[in-house]
Amino acid sequence: MSLVTLYKGHFIDTPTPGEFRVRKDAVAIVEAGKLLFLEKAVPERFSSLPVKDLGEGVVIPSFIDLHVHAPQHMQMGAGLDMGLLDWLENYTYPGESSFADEDYARKIYPLFAAELLRQGSLRSVVYGTVHLVSTLILAQVLEKAGLIAFVGKVNMDRNTPDYLKETSEASFKVTETFCRRLVGRNGVRPIVTPRFAPSCTEKLMEDLGRLSQRLDLPVQSHLSETLSEAQWVSQLFPESRSYTHVYNDCGLLGSGSLMAHAIFLSDEEIDLIMERGATLVHCPSANINLSSGIMPLGRYLDRGVNLGLGSDVGAGHTLAMYRSVVQAVQSAKLLRILRPEENHRAVTLSDAFYLATMGNGKFFTNQGWGPCGAFEPGMSFDALSIDMGLPEVVEMSPLNQLERFLYAGDDRHIKIRILAGREL
Ligand SMILES: [Zn+2]
Repeated sequence: MSLVTLYKGHFIDTPTPGEFRVRKDAVAIVEAGKLLFLEKAVPERFSSLPVKDLGEGVVIPSFIDLHVHAPQHMQMGAGLDMGLLDWLENYTYPGESSFADEDYARKIYPLFAAELLRQGSLRSVVYGTVHLVSTLILAQVLEKAGLIAFVGKVNMDRNTPDYLKETSEASFKVTETFCRRLVGRNGVRPIVTPRFAPSCTEKLMEDLGRLSQRLDLPVQSHLSETLSEAQWVSQLFPESRSYTHVYNDCGLLGSGSLMAHAIFLSDEEIDLIMERGATLVHCPSANINLSSGIMPLGRYLDRGVNLGLGSDVGAGHTLAMYRSVVQAVQSAKLLRILRPEENHRAVTLSDAFYLATMGNGKFFTNQGWGPCGAFEPGMSFDALSIDMGLPEVVEMSPLNQLERFLYAGDDRHIKIRILAGREL
């Protein structure tokens, strides 16, 4: 028998949207990084093993961030009174240019990895910059921290300041080199990352589409984040039927594609997303900060679109995914308050928690990493032990403790972080 670990506690997860599953005083039996089972009683064959008691707090699946920009970690909160395109021009692009300097990347990226870990986001899908060496450093840093991630070298060959602009040929070649360096790694793997349609020529996007198919790599980009950006795309790509069709026409829309924001989509575009099996990533913090709009999350959930949740730091202002969970709920409430005539349904805390764990986990599962995101037998045992430090006289149910953590807790309440059975 390989190494087996037993954890006792109050376990909460969301294997499906819409309902928290609470298992009080249960014991998780973990072998080779995976959950064997979660039961009340310890089976006879494991009864001689010690049980690690996680106390009266709650144990939840660790968080997954499906959309985050590592270089923007240093600009969190800066310039957020602007709209997207001005903010990119004035803050993001100058900030990202600093990563031409490898020493800068070596100093900054470990801080990003440490913060992901601190906030309990043990898996993530991350944007680097256009720079090859710095983005390889980012991958190494995340791997060294013991985290699991996809990392993308960003592509931009037009409508970009000269100090970041690549030629189409160099952008493609460097991306191929980057991806080949990371293919088949254990902790960190590559993802093809055209920044967004306005900053890439059709030729570059088509080349990247072919690369993703040839190397069987996932793709991430931004889609329909603001109305002015969507209008710009329709001018830049008059041949394509819609913003979503631009990516589709270039071979970038498939079951391994993550499209962040997707606020202003037509029914036809949603049909196309579903037909291709792509995933839409909701980034509520960023969408409010940049006054972009509100994704109709309830509608997408009801339609059965593949959905995930992202912090989108630095347009989002925190790497704490528990904040994004609450922001997703609050955004959906705002939509109902502001546009009652559209009959948007409520998005519950369990719906949003599902996205940050199981929903986001599906992407990793489908990309060959093995199942994760909940406490089901056979899944990677990824967990956070939460203790809200309540006084002894207070009796609070495990579910109320989790609600309190999501709304009012912080990283001080995360006591243990476990990824694939390993305490980090
Ligand atoms: Zn983004």
